[in-house]
Amino acid sequence: MVTTLADLIGVLDAAYPPKLAESWDSVGLVCGDPDDEVTRVLFAVDATAAVVEEAIDWRAQALVVHHPLLLRGVDTVAADTAKGALLHRLIRSGCALFTAHTNADSADPGVSDALAAAIGLTVTGPLDPKPTAAVDNWVVQVPRTHSDAVLGALFAAGAGGAGSYHECALRVPGVGQFRPMPGADPAIGAIGELQRVEEDRIEVIAPPAARAAVLAALRAAHPYEDPAYHVTERAALPSGLGIGRVGVLPEPEPLRDFTARVTAALPTTVWGVRAAGDPDRVIERVAVCGGAGDSYLSTAARLGVDAYLTSDLRHHPVDEHLRTGGPALIDAAHWATEFPWCAQAEGIVAAALPELETRVSTLRTDPWTVGAVD
Ligand SMILES: [Zn+2]
Repeated sequence: MVTTLADLIGVLDAAYPPKLAESWDSVGLVCGDPDDEVTRVLFAVDATAAVVEEAIDWRAQALVVHHPLLLRGVDTVAADTAKGALLHRLIRSGCALFTAHTNADSADPGVSDALAAAIGLTVTGPLDPKPTAAVDNWVVQVPRTHSDAVLGALFAAGAGGAGSYHECALRVPGVGQFRPMPGADPAIGAIGELQRVEEDRIEVIAPPAARAAVLAALRAAHPYEDPAYHVTERAALPSGLGIGRVGVLPEPEPLRDFTARVTAALPTTVWGVRAAGDPDRVIERVAVCGGAGDSYLSTAARLGVDAYLTSDLRHHPVDEHLRTGGPALIDAAHWATEFPWCAQAEGIVAAALPELETRVSTLRTDPWTVGAVD
């Protein structure tokens, strides 16, 4: 049986769900036919000209990258434009291009898990957790004779859980009571007489988007003219998904040693690794964010971590952050902080589709090329 690009995309989308991508991002298939056969897949941070050449020279049918080649509005992919030329090279060579960007950042495991693992952190959670989806909790009182019918209607309308568990409900037996007044049309009992009925109190969860459907199903299936029910929305709780990670080192160590640890763990770049803060400051709890993480400086400070490792930090935000007593900052090359993700993505694909040949490009796609190390 042949493995297709669609199979590869299925594995990548399961690991890095596109719905986790930020609204401004562009992720997924850039070029390629999902029906084409795939035998070789190359992984890289950037689809630079050199990486595209490597993919084609190796006769890969798919190049999986972190950074979108096309992010802003595109009017042309003509071959006489830089990006258009790359797309023509890829398409003519039968090589697809696929991007997992901020969806890979927020996934679990994601980009910052790979970075955290590379420097020896034990991750405790995301730096900026995404909230879980809100959930409705429906509570309905039903005469016991109709409990199964009402439950069935609620399930059919989308209540009762999703994913690995369906038809989830709680039934608590009890006794309901009511006195129909003149003008009522009671299903049970007579006007003016107090009725006591063996009832079940039924609780089910449902997505808020199904609220109208669940209410309609409840009214249709419930025997009473005016069913007793209430619905409450459970607060959106923090999840294990989100940008960045927080973790702990095996042993506390001075910032000087922690910086050396990061330098040794990440691939060498011209940019190198530099730290801001007292070299003797003791580091144990660390936040990391692969890629440009300066927008999470205040988040890291609020969490009270000892150090924050990210990239693309600038003079003034760093200076102001340190003046307010925030964590020590470690700034590495953007590419270097995301490079560990390539092996993570490769591992996920290799485990799911072991018949594929996979490889991580070792080309340094950091744009900085001249410096103390080159
Ligand atoms: Zn990046």
